[in-house]
Amino acid sequence: MKIDQFETDALMDVAARPPVVFVEGRGSWLVDHTGRRYLDFVQGWAVNALGHCPPEIASALAAQAQRLVSPSPAFFNDTALALARRLARLSGLSRVFLASSGAEANEGAIKLARKWGSLHKGGAYEIVTFADGFHGRTLATMSASGKAGWNRSGRRAAPGPLRAPAGGGREANGDEHIGLFEPKVPGFPKARLNDLDSVRALIGPRTAAVMLEPIQGEAGVVPATGAFLRALRALCDEHGLLLVLDEVQTGVGRTGSLFAFEQAGATPDIMTLGKGLGGGVPLAALLAKEQVACFAHGDQGGTYCGNPLMAAVGNAVLDVVAQPQFLAGVAERGAYLQQHLQRLAGRHGLAGERGSGLLRALDLGAPIGPALVDAARELRPEGLLLNSPRPHLLRFMPRLNVPLEDIDRLAALLDELLAQVR
Ligand code: PLP
Repeated sequence: MKIDQFETDALMDVAARPPVVFVEGRGSWLVDHTGRRYLDFVQGWAVNALGHCPPEIASALAAQAQRLVSPSPAFFNDTALALARRLARLSGLSRVFLASSGAEANEGAIKLARKWGSLHKGGAYEIVTFADGFHGRTLATMSASGKAGWNRSGRRAAPGPLRAPAGGGREANGDEHIGLFEPKVPGFPKARLNDLDSVRALIGPRTAAVMLEPIQGEAGVVPATGAFLRALRALCDEHGLLLVLDEVQTGVGRTGSLFAFEQAGATPDIMTLGKGLGGGVPLAALLAKEQVACFAHGDQGGTYCGNPLMAAVGNAVLDVVAQPQFLAGVAERGAYLQQHLQRLAGRHGLAGERGSGLLRALDLGAPIGPALVDAARELRPEGLLLNSPRPHLLRFMPRLNVPLEDIDRLAALLDELLAQVR
């Protein structure tokens, strides 16, 4: 079958996609329209916690689809209630709102922090966020993100009818944001990760919260240190601010504990989950401490929020991932992948390796990431799917139950590719 037959032009051209159409997936493997197989270390961008089409998810979907799909978010349903109870028990954050994407959960977190600020902090609405952070692609979550290229940093433009207002807010250096889709949502000053003074400098009477990822995933797997997270917790307590953790990428076992915050020992007031929670289907969650969960009726909602079909998958994922022995397995696999990556870094003179659990990155020390991604996909007889969120970097997000032989195969293929590309 030729790719032309798929009439790819019917889709909006929002991403540079390779000329491959996937038609099937199983475990660590995807199959394209020509029948070629690919070893997948992207897994839907850290989404398929249990791999492609795991039997647990297929049967949860089938069973729920035959029982109850959409009773409306205006009614309780047993499956969503079960998921909410489990998430509350596992996280210690007693109130849960179920959503469909990470951006939607983060949008909810921002609204909740602002509502809390309006009720308890004299109308404070600013949320200190971080350079290079990533929280999603709605307008507010883009404004909260510090993704390079979304905010071109510069001095506020002189007022004039055709100038874009600098609505993105202040940065630690006092500059204003000018960039994409202006005007941005104001109120997201940007601090620097692992630099407590840069956060302190932005706290004022309008500050309601501090929001960050425990590991900046899209920025290239850049961790907030445990010491920084604990110091942020103390700083928030000192100033009466909310600590909001975006665990959309790090949560649900990805780093070897159910939530990354557990490893740092810094409990958030608000947390968001997505990606792995749905194991490949659109499911996300916003969680908050009891005293922070201040939404009134009508403040938050959505047609698919708490949809039992998706919630059934969340329960099926937690049945597996929340088991201590499964999480120990993630940590072991992560250490195994780390050893391979360290060996490759040494052999090929790369800059290094970093990450936590099965969210890892290889710092290539040169902007060869995109070339490696293309060459890996073109490998014969079987391709390899890699991700390069930054040109000098490869990010690895395999399924959490990835067999060790798949990691061996990845390492052998990477060894060949690095020899060729460098
Ligand atoms: N937050 C983080 C940390 C993410 O990594 C992502 C996606 O990559 C999002 C939020 C946005 O999630 P979604 O794409 O499901 O809206």
